[in-house]
Amino acid sequence: MKTQDVIQLTKELVRMNTINPPGREEPCARRLGAQLEGGGFQTKYHSFGEGRVSLIATIGGSGSKFPLCFTGHIDTVPLGGAPWRMDPFAGDTDAGMLYGRGTSDMKCGVAAFTVAALGMAKHLANTCGITLVVTAGEETGCEGAFHLYRDGALGSAGAVVVAEPTSNYPFVGHKGALWLKARTRGVTAHGSMPEKGVNAVYKAAHAVTRLEQFRFSNPPHRLMGQATLNVGTFQGGLNINSVPDQAEIGVDIRTVPTVDHKELISLLAAQLGSEVKLETLMDLEAVYTEPRNPWIQSVFETMTPFLGEAPEPRVATYFTDAAALNRAYGDPPTVILGPGEPHMAHQTDEYCVLERVEKSVAAYEDIIRRWCLI
Ligand SMILES: [Zn+2]
Repeated sequence: MKTQDVIQLTKELVRMNTINPPGREEPCARRLGAQLEGGGFQTKYHSFGEGRVSLIATIGGSGSKFPLCFTGHIDTVPLGGAPWRMDPFAGDTDAGMLYGRGTSDMKCGVAAFTVAALGMAKHLANTCGITLVVTAGEETGCEGAFHLYRDGALGSAGAVVVAEPTSNYPFVGHKGALWLKARTRGVTAHGSMPEKGVNAVYKAAHAVTRLEQFRFSNPPHRLMGQATLNVGTFQGGLNINSVPDQAEIGVDIRTVPTVDHKELISLLAAQLGSEVKLETLMDLEAVYTEPRNPWIQSVFETMTPFLGEAPEPRVATYFTDAAALNRAYGDPPTVILGPGEPHMAHQTDEYCVLERVEKSVAAYEDIIRRWCLI
């Protein structure tokens, strides 16, 4: 019964186009909310723009222990330039796979924790309970999750399961992301008389060289290694025969838990000098829980029979909404664990594996049981 439920629900969610931009997650959020309300959950919808709706559903919440949080996003990335062999919005299955945009990343994960939560609901009324945080706008920088955080809508949670695609392998964290814009200014002049101007591109070029030479001084992290820095964009000048009066550099820094973002920004600002103005575009701290944490160990025990072996501590390559949510929750133990296929995220002909999705419902139920009922 549950097997059919979770596949059916995944198909329904995939049939709703939530490509971001523009997003339009509202029908998806309402569809999930209605079913959860029917199962005894209290729901609240939070909008940060037209059609941009996140959902928080809770059940239980008594006693001193905080609830267990499951989180997932319902927006997807665009289809990309290559043609699809399968219809990205039909929810068709073939040879044990369910195809469509957002199947793996991550509507199957959202469907799985929704079905698991509904399956356990009747036992949860007088327990610490669970809270489901279903976000809009994750793919463009965790907009929905940050909106929930700024609104004070998240309440509390004692542990977090992020249902992003991991093929049901539990990951204990991921790197942070700090995206910066570095801007230089100059004075324009005719290109035939550059001595009358100040060239902003020259200043930016010097800044790029310093960024290329930047070395992180923090100790590398045991599982994540060292932080990285990449100059992803460089723009400056409007026409070939003028001295450019402004230039911009886009910097993508992926941090590890040993990097303090505020300190790093100050250090970069000092090294680049007063001619370079830094602006923060996105600031997501790394997420990490020590594998010996008792709850992580409990999740590892839950997953061992599903994986056929005891999990070893590993981290995900991508960042997740947990970076935003955990600011509100005070960094509780967090695991990234979902039935989608990580190598299928953002791909043409994206699919998820039906068997993996079915197994994840049972795994999530066990994780809920261990948190709320034991
Ligand atoms: Zn995702």
